[in-house]
Amino acid sequence: MAYDFIIVGAGIAGITMAEQIANMLNKKVLLIDKRDHIGGNCHDYYNDDGILVHKYGPHIFHTNSTRVYNYLSLYTTWISYNHKVLGKIGDILVPIPFNLISIDKCLPDISNHVKSAILDEYEVNQKVPILEMKKSDNPSIAKLAHYVYENVFLHYTEKMWGLKPEQLDESVTARVPVHISYDCRYFQDTYQGIPRDGYTKMFANMLSNHNINILLNKDYHEILSIDYEEKKVYLYDEEFTGEVIFTGMIDEFFDYRYGPLPYRAMVFMDETSDKERFQENATINYPNDYHFTRITEYKYLTGQVSDKTTVQFEFPEQYDYRDKDANIPSYPIPQKKNEELYNRYKLLADEFEHVTFLGRLAEYKYMNMDVVVEKALNLISDKFMGEEF
Ligand SMILES: Cc1cc2nc3c(=O)[nH]c(=O)nc-3n(C[C@H](O)[C@H](O)[C@H](O)COP(=O)(O)OP(=O)(O)OC[C@H]3O[C@@H](n4cnc5c(N)ncnc54)[C@H](O)[C@@H]3O)c2cc1C
Repeated sequence: MAYDFIIVGAGIAGITMAEQIANMLNKKVLLIDKRDHIGGNCHDYYNDDGILVHKYGPHIFHTNSTRVYNYLSLYTTWISYNHKVLGKIGDILVPIPFNLISIDKCLPDISNHVKSAILDEYEVNQKVPILEMKKSDNPSIAKLAHYVYENVFLHYTEKMWGLKPEQLDESVTARVPVHISYDCRYFQDTYQGIPRDGYTKMFANMLSNHNINILLNKDYHEILSIDYEEKKVYLYDEEFTGEVIFTGMIDEFFDYRYGPLPYRAMVFMDETSDKERFQENATINYPNDYHFTRITEYKYLTGQVSDKTTVQFEFPEQYDYRDKDANIPSYPIPQKKNEELYNRYKLLADEFEHVTFLGRLAEYKYMNMDVVVEKALNLISDKFMGEEF
């Protein structure tokens, strides 16, 4: 088959592009991935005990985009699911993000006082960054902020990133709020859910078009080579004159010539028990005291019924680009110097007219699934629709 497009990476970015190229543009596409499965980091599968688990950490679909929701709904129906997270602080479990119920639980002696102070100061339903609250002149608010900073934020952040909060961009630290609300849902988006038969099934549906050829267990280096001088891509030693969509790591594409972009890796440890429930909530965060950051019990997400249950522990680690079998890159590390390094790679990428860099690794940016899907849909309509290749 002669291909019009080659896509590197069968994650949600590559799959959305493949689906659109095949169905909307009626073009032929080769989709390759070095892993033995489709779905990238959103991949789910039934483990040996028959429990549906997410291989690379819990993925909850949530969006305010009707366009993205309607698009994915062509390929799946949904289990309506509102994610909730509890944090273990000392011996008690409290809603995360920290909210008015958390205040009642953690600071029972002064909770009425603290709540009336914050309700005077902020809007109901507002999410106030903890670092902003810390600056308050009101002693009750400052006390609350200090409590949340010490018990929820500080050690979790250090464990998660292996860095002190002040070493990270404010964009990360600003994300940790106190929610002025009794709403214990983790997300407030209009659409929230889990694909009824799982993400992998939804992706398989998206890829079921004869225009798409999928090659798994294939690192792109095995079939593609890049001429950096001429800005050309070769497929099996022949110049490829079509379009390439690259969703792998941008620094790898350029052979790490400016050095590696750093990532935080997550190591996932799954455990199955012969009981219906392991814990009292889908996800429990452990901000302090343990090496892992959180435990997720999958049956809460999927609604699966079984007399067994699987939980997943998450351990943050340093990612080593030289030892790719050791762990996988999960989160770009949000620091100014890393953004600057990415921008240098981006300048090189812009010179490749027929290679489009898309997705969390190619753009070195944490993005939720809906954001990636929306970007892919926009690329099709803005860049490729109506063009002849
Ligand atoms: C722990 C965790 C939890 C998350 N939870 C949520 C959530 O609840 N909700 C949400 O909306 N988002 C969540 N996300 C974000 C979500 O995972 C991303 O939006 C999504 O994975 C981005 O898809 P992608 O296709 O850009 O990248 P990926 O899924 O990483 O796909 C890239 C693909 O490229 C392949 N590849 C890389 N290098 C090569 C190579 N050399 N040769 C061939 N193939 C290659 C990889 O194997 C991979 O399959 C979470 C992220 C993490 C880390």
